[in-house]
This record gives sequence, C-alpha cells and structure tokens, in this order.
Amino acid sequence: MSALIDTFGRAHRDLRVSLTDRCSLRCSYCMPHDFAAWLPSEELLTTDELIAVIEAAVSQGIDEIRLTGGEPLLRPDIVEIVARINAISNPPKLSMTTNGLALAKLAAPLVGAGLSRINISLDTLDRERFKKLTFRDRINDVFAGIDAARAAGLKPLKINSVLMRGVNDDEAIALVRWALKESLNLRFIEQMPLDAGGAWSRDQMITADEIYAELSKEFSLSPVANRGSSPAEEFYIDGGPAVVGIIGSVTRPFCGDCDRVRLTSDGQIRACLFSMTETDTRAILRNRDLTNEQKRESLVKAFHSTIEAKLPGHGINDPSFIQPTRPMSAIGG
Ligand code: SAM
Ligand code: SF4
Repeated sequence: MSALIDTFGRAHRDLRVSLTDRCSLRCSYCMPHDFAAWLPSEELLTTDELIAVIEAAVSQGIDEIRLTGGEPLLRPDIVEIVARINAISNPPKLSMTTNGLALAKLAAPLVGAGLSRINISLDTLDRERFKKLTFRDRINDVFAGIDAARAAGLKPLKINSVLMRGVNDDEAIALVRWALKESLNLRFIEQMPLDAGGAWSRDQMITADEIYAELSKEFSLSPVANRGSSPAEEFYIDGGPAVVGIIGSVTRPFCGDCDRVRLTSDGQIRACLFSMTETDTRAILRNRDLTNEQKRESLVKAFHSTIEAKLPGHGINDPSFIQPTRPMSAIGG
C-alpha cells in the first residue's frame, strides 16, 4: 500500500462518497426549489462499482468513509451499501451526513449493518421557517430521525447548521440551547459558493467571526485543543464538557490540513469541493477490454493522479475564483 500523499505533503485518509445527487429537500443554499438537472440514473455507479472504487481507495490508505449526497438515504440499497463497506478487509470507519428525514425508519438497520457515526443537518427549529427554507413541511421527520438515531445508539450525534443573513441568523443561540438540552454536538458551517443556483454572495454569508461573536453574547467559549484535520474549530460551552463547532470554510480555510478526497455518485474523483477537474472511475469500471485486476490497478492510479494534482487551497478568496459547475448536491458535502 502506498499512501495518498499530495505534493504539499498532505496524506489523504478520508473519502466522501456521494450516493446520489437527488434530494428530499430543497435547502435554498444548496439547490433551487425547481431544480431538475439530475444526473441520468444510468450514469450513477452501481453498488458493485461503488464498492470496487471504495476497495481501491481503502487499499491506498483511506480509513474513513463518509456517505453523503444529495440525500444518501434516498439510495434504495443504502443498508446493503453500509454492510458491504463494512465487509471490506480492514474496514474503514463509516459515517454519514443526512437530512435525517428517513432515519426514523432506517437508523436501526443502518447501525445493524455497521454505521457508527452520523451528522444530521438542521438549520432551524421552527416549522414554518423550515418549510420556507427547504420547500418541504417535514421538520417533524427530522426530529423523529434524531430520536431514532439516538435510540439506535449512534453517538456522538452531530448536527450541521448553515446560518443565512436575515433568514435564520437570529437562531444561533436557540440552536445551541436546544443542542445542549438534547445532548447533540452542534456545528455551524459558513455558507460556501456551491449552490446549484449560483446565488451565493459574500455579503449574505454569516462568517465564523460573526457566529463566535453572537454565541459569546450568551455563552463563555473556550477553545478545545488538538483540532487535527477537523474542519471545525471547537469551543467548550461555559467550561464544557459540551462543545460547539464553527466551520469557517470560507473565511478560515483549513486547506493546509485537508485529508479529504471525494467520489461523486457518477464515479468522478475530486481532490476538493472546488476542483475544476475530475478523474473518471466509471469509464474504467465499464471498459470491457480491461480485466478485473487491470481495473483495480487503474482505479488505484486514478486516486494517485487526482491527489498528485491537488492544489494547495480552494481559492474562494482569490479574485480569479470560479464556482465549480457541479453543485454541492452533486459533489457530496
Ligand atoms: N442531504 C444531506 C444533508 O443535508 O445533510 C447530505 C448532503 S448535504 C450537501 C451535506 C452538508 O452540506 C449539509 O450539512 C448541508 O447543510 C451542507 N451544505 C449544502 N450546501 C452548502 C453550502 N452552499 N455551503 C455550506 N454548506 C452546505
Ligand atoms: Fe438536500 Fe442536503 Fe442539499 Fe438540503 S443540503 S437540499 S438536504 S442535499
């Protein structure tokens, strides 16, 4: 095994796998409510193809897989996918990011199949606001999903929230109070220019500094040491042990410590959310002239060539920055 180390010395251990670009919500910072530019289903990796790519990545030092999307729980064979990743020799740590809508039904089977950690996304505690933000009246399904995840033994339960100016930025403190009451580990994420509608604007983004200032009005925040490659800066709330995280992807980039690589649901490896290039694994997997061993070798090479070409940073703050054409929902957040 040779590790996936880029030209800046960063070792890559974390593979984010998008299982589908489709979703059961329409969060405004992610996709327009009338979005319809879905990937054709025949272009998505089949479960066998997906497992072949993940096995190749694991053989090169990937030891953590996060399943995401789109909404990963929309993939009909999600429980089988989790079980098959867990059956790989030297199985990676396996986690998922989900909107939680289908967790009431799926949390227990997923844990049974080997899922060990989960992040659930929720940006508001208010039903009407949720409806406005996601174009679906389903906040109670998210709450039921959180309860089911807890009952299934998923711990720690992490919640991701994106604050938007004039939309839900008045809820930062309420979200922290709720997370404390429910023993949830809350992380605020700065809004990134990855929405399908291309509507992101720097002025509308609530920055990490603003979030910190707002929370400091109510809580005493002290930094947690040993951040490692985690994107979240964590703070003890009122002396701990509870913590809150702030992910300043735009204003406090953590690219220097990035250990992530991504696989889209149509089989493209991306070195970064903001990459302008991709490496095609689907073409390798569907090439009838290759033996299985040749395919495996080509997949390994595809990971190495992607990582070798990885840029030092995402470049959002460069004047020449161009938003990737693939939105977050089609890359995997
Ligand atoms: N559908 C799942 C969910 O919402 O958790 C998984 C996919 S979603 C793309 C993963 C995470 O990305 C969510 O926590 C979501 O809030 C976040 N996200 C989506 N668009 C974003 C953006 N433009 N900026 C920052 N975070 C974003
Ligand atoms: Fe769907 Fe997640 Fe995007 Fe919301 S953030 S629209 S839940 S993929």
